[in-house]
Amino acid sequence: MKDRQVISADSIESEKQFEAALRPSRLADFTGQPKLKENLSIAIEAAKQRGDALDHVLLYGPPGLGKTTLASIISQELGVAFDTTSGPVLQKKLDLTGVLTNIREKQVFFIDEIHRLLPDVEEILYSALEDFRVDILVGTGPGARTHSLPVARFTAIGATTRQGLVSAPLRGRFGLVLRLNHYELADLARIVQRSASLLGVDIDEDGAEEIGRRARGTPRIANRLLRRVRDFAQVRADGKVRRDVAITALDLLEVDRYGLDEIDTKIMMTILEKYGGGPVGVNTIAASIDEEAATIEEVYEPYLIQLGFIDRTPRGRVGTRRAFEYFGVRAPRSSADEQNLLF
Ligand code: ADP
Repeated sequence: MKDRQVISADSIESEKQFEAALRPSRLADFTGQPKLKENLSIAIEAAKQRGDALDHVLLYGPPGLGKTTLASIISQELGVAFDTTSGPVLQKKLDLTGVLTNIREKQVFFIDEIHRLLPDVEEILYSALEDFRVDILVGTGPGARTHSLPVARFTAIGATTRQGLVSAPLRGRFGLVLRLNHYELADLARIVQRSASLLGVDIDEDGAEEIGRRARGTPRIANRLLRRVRDFAQVRADGKVRRDVAITALDLLEVDRYGLDEIDTKIMMTILEKYGGGPVGVNTIAASIDEEAATIEEVYEPYLIQLGFIDRTPRGRVGTRRAFEYFGVRAPRSSADEQNLLF
């Protein structure tokens, strides 16, 4: 048991180092997301020209799409310091007050999982973001007084996988709100090739494309799969990652052809099998797989829609013909077919 804990702590550490090694440090090396990059580079350029701190930025989108990476790129492009924390780490008002009063002019302060801030900690952030000050209560009882401390003009970058859980007053304090979408196949293949060259892995275009296709639209997964395929190529092939090597390795790892995970599959089977292809409401899907409706909407569904497996209709989610085929579920006769039979 003890051994296992040590191993898992080690592997988390090596996973972190691995991610850090592959993290692009300039906007030009950040693949994909063209609209977001354009908006960001305009804002960065403008702030630099004015010699001002960049507006606060809120980045949202499913995990592994590059929010942390972008936050650190922004600080490098601005040439300022980068401090990072996360919603669950900041447990007390004083934690945040301490950090904020030590912040330097124009620096970037990254808050990951910002939707998980406790309400009273979040309140401290409001005045820091808007008026660049924090109020602290000194003393107790009737003699207690509020002191207002100045905070340097800084740039907060918030990241969240759950936009819907960021309160309106908090969201309203971010000048730039940017959404990251799942990546197109061509971008993922490019990311795999870039990572391979940094890791010294010999790979051809088809090999990179196969890994990209199974990465669930997510660079973090693409990089992880590359690492596994590299091992396979080294031990079971001649070291070069070609399409056939990638296919064999990924099949062995039981990675789905579209990178779907267990929850994706559960969602699809609920729609296709349990509800005959829908329409079915997201709350009903959520209840049957024991997952939050908002997580399904914000984290899982966008990729399934991008793949063309789910259609959103006013009456609920509908499984597409493509989904029935892929999951090998027999589509029930549609009402149009039934009408044709009747008349
Ligand atoms: P998030 O914060 O959204 O969960 P990260 O920023 O930690 O995601 O990204 C996860 C990994 O994916 C990092 O190792 C990073 O190198 C890689 N990555 C993410 N987006 C890109 C991109 N657009 N181009 C290249 N690599 C990327």
